[in-house]
Amino acid sequence: MKDRTAYKAGEYCICVKCNTRMPHRRGVPCRDNKCPNCGRTMFREGGYHHQLFLEKEKKKEEQEKNKKGEGASDGNHDQK
Ligand SMILES: [Zn+2]
Repeated sequence: MKDRTAYKAGEYCICVKCNTRMPHRRGVPCRDNKCPNCGRTMFREGGYHHQLFLEKEKKKEEQEKNKKGEGASDGNHDQK
């Protein structure tokens, strides 16, 4: 099912802060665009840097979950 990628990858720029997307203009790197909403530098959607960012965010989330998990499992660990 390759039809779903009717638009070419990288046709959109995305702001990772507020998830604003806008069509990528040819010849203009997304990181040269600022988010019209919050002014943050935009990434090319699905591009290398976007994926890097998403991975970082995931790791952050996991770390925070782990932290919370540790705290929560402190008292009721072997309760069964
Ligand atoms: Zn934004």
